[in-house]
Formats: sequence, C-alpha cells, structure tokens
Amino acid sequence: MQSPLPIINLKKGKEKSLERFHPWIFSGAIHPVPQEVKEGDFVEIQTQDKRFIGIGYFQVGSIAVRMLTFQKEEINQDFWKRKLQSSIELRKTANLWNNTETNVFRLVHGEGDGFPGLIVDYYDGCVVFQAHTVGMYQIKEVFLEALKDLLGEQLKSVYDKSNHTLPFKAELETTDAFIYGEEKEEWLVKEYGNTFNINVVTGQKTGFFIDQRENRKLLEHYSKGKKVCNTFCYSGGFSIFALQAGAELVHSVDSSQGAMDLTDQNVKLNFPDAQNHQSFTADVFNFLNEMPEQYDVIVLDPPAFAKHRKVLKNGLQGYRTINEKAMKNMKSGGVLFTFSCSQVVNQEQFRTVIFSAAARAGRQVQILHQLHQPADHPINIFHPEGEYLKGLVLRVV
Ligand code: SAH
Repeated sequence: MQSPLPIINLKKGKEKSLERFHPWIFSGAIHPVPQEVKEGDFVEIQTQDKRFIGIGYFQVGSIAVRMLTFQKEEINQDFWKRKLQSSIELRKTANLWNNTETNVFRLVHGEGDGFPGLIVDYYDGCVVFQAHTVGMYQIKEVFLEALKDLLGEQLKSVYDKSNHTLPFKAELETTDAFIYGEEKEEWLVKEYGNTFNINVVTGQKTGFFIDQRENRKLLEHYSKGKKVCNTFCYSGGFSIFALQAGAELVHSVDSSQGAMDLTDQNVKLNFPDAQNHQSFTADVFNFLNEMPEQYDVIVLDPPAFAKHRKVLKNGLQGYRTINEKAMKNMKSGGVLFTFSCSQVVNQEQFRTVIFSAAARAGRQVQILHQLHQPADHPINIFHPEGEYLKGLVLRVV
C-alpha cells in the first residue's frame, strides 16, 4: 500500500472546474501547500470541507497542480502502465500502430492523453521522452519500464530530451541522453510512404513536426502540376508531399541553414533526380515581398508567433503580415495553406486575422478546409486549451 499522500485543500468553491475534470489547478485556488511538499510530488486534492477530488502533482508556478486522476487509486507502476496502454490503444484506433506507410507518430500528447506535461514521440522504434514538468520528469524510470513491457522488441531506443523543456528554476541539472537501447541519433522514418531522416538529438522539438502529417497529405491534393512554395519549411515535409503529387516546381524557404540542409537531404532521399525543387535560406517576411515566382499554392507554417498571452497582439500582427503578403502576391485562383500553432490564439482569433489580411490584400478569399491537429495529438474535451494547431485552406481570387 502507498503511504497517504500530502493533502492540498482547495479554497471554498474552487472545485467547480475540477468536477468537470479540468486537469489544472491555479495557485490562487488553493490554501498554502504543506511544507514537506516539493515540486513534482504527488498530492491528494480535497475541497475546503475535506471531500476527495482527485490526485495530481504539485508544481511551482501559476499552474500549481496538474491532475492525474479523479479516482481514489494508487499511483504505482500499474497505474502508469494502464495509462500508456490507453495511449497505445488510441494509436491503434487511429491506424497508426504497425502501419507500414507511416511509422512516426506522437505516442503521448500531454493532457490529451492523461499525462499532463509529458510528450512522447515514436520514430520507428526510437522513442523520445520529453518532460515539460518536474512531476513528469520524475516518472521517467517507471515510464521506461512500462514502455519496455508494452512495446517489447518493438522498442529499439529511448532518448530523454527534457533538458530544455523542464522549468529552469527547478534546477534539476539534467542532461539529454539515451536511457535505453541503441544510442543512434539518426532514424529513417516513413510518413505516408515518404522517407524522412530524423535526428532526435539535434533536430528541433523531438526531431520532426509530426502534427502536420494529415495536412501535408491534403497538400498533395492541390499540388499536381502547380507551382508550390513551402515557407517555414524546417525539414521539408510539405515540399516532399507536393513533389510526390507531381508539382511543376517546389520552392522551400526557411531562415535556418540547418533546416535547408535537412530539406535538401530529404528531397534527395525521396527524389534523387528532382530538378524541380529549389531551396532558399531566407527570412520569410522578406521572401514574400520579392517572390521569385507567382505561386499557385503557398504554405505558411510559422513557429508560434505568440507564445504567451502577453505577446498575443504582436503575434496576431505577425500572422496578419505574412498572410497579407502571401495573398497579395499569389496567383488568382491559387490556394493558401495557412497555420498557427500558438496555443493562446484560438480558432476565432485566427480566422479574424485572416479576414483582416484578406481585406488589406484586397483579395476575394474562400475557405475550403478548416484544419487542426491529428488524432495522435488528441484534445481532452475537458481541457480545450489542448487545441493548439489551427489551419485554413483558402482559395484566393
Ligand atoms: N512546416 C514545418 C515546420 C515549421 S517549424 C514542417 O512541416 O515540418 C518553423 C520553422 O520556421 C523553423 O524551421 C524555423 O527555422 C523557421 N523560421 C522561424 N522564423 C522564420 C523566419 N522569419 N523566416 C524563415 N523561417 C523562419
């Protein structure tokens, strides 16, 4: 039996959102935390009048507790194994498990999978573990055991890449390292049959922007015989799908030389003789002012321009600027794939920004698709904040 957990009491009436299973408790909602409780410790949550609400872990900051369960249960090896099993089941449901065409997907998506603060990505047997909180960092060993149990021989390697995502004030002094299996940095993975070289150690995030898989697939539909420009291209994901579809030409743009090298490498892997792809190491804001071609299709997939609510206004302006420039200069009847991955920008705000960009560009714009994150990035219905990726496919006349 687990020894009783320290108790954190909610202030009067602050249990409402928890009774609707929202997984966060803000610091203003709780009474002072018992002294022995350290960051990352499991705690039991009770109402002011000592009614059980659930179990979570404590965190220093404005989110004071992230909830793990609303049932009275032990947080032991079996608990984590059951949770991971449920994540695996979702990937089976989404036809991502043992899929011969696609062997890269997100295995654990934070709150969406009931692991608040944890990201785990799967690259053909190489698993990247990325904790964003001390609480999740502390389950690393038990999580690894659960992975070994449930994946068996399928598990080739595990890389812990939490050093830059853990709160720096926690002073955990971690280093990124392989914690199981092969110490191999580069993995050749497949997404809808296209090959990508992923470096889990040096790559951005865990190595690849897995969340755009279905949107890249949709780009195929619009690319045949077209002039396509993929901006903020990173490893060239959208470019490869456009080439696959038979685009007349594909231009890829990113300000990072490393990203352009990766793109060139991935283009070569899939289309060794391609003459119709060109890379541009450039700032997209400048590139869109003087585009070398009038494109039929443009992809705008920038990094999060607004990472916090404080910079929301500037972020929205950034989205408006690039969309206005792209719309102004693209071919009449062309198609624009435009995205925002800022968590603090909601669907409506994004659409309003696009509306304003279209008005300023003086173009007629029709919405063809409304896009979002794929099934392996699930949104917990009780945690709408988990919906971060928004996209629109627009016809620009
Ligand atoms: N679309 C990509 C992911 C984009 S990530 C995919 O499908 O994989 C965002 C990219 O934007 C990063 O590679 C970063 O280097 C690049 N970037 C950020 N600011 C930029 C700017 N002002 N101009 C050009 N590229 C930029």
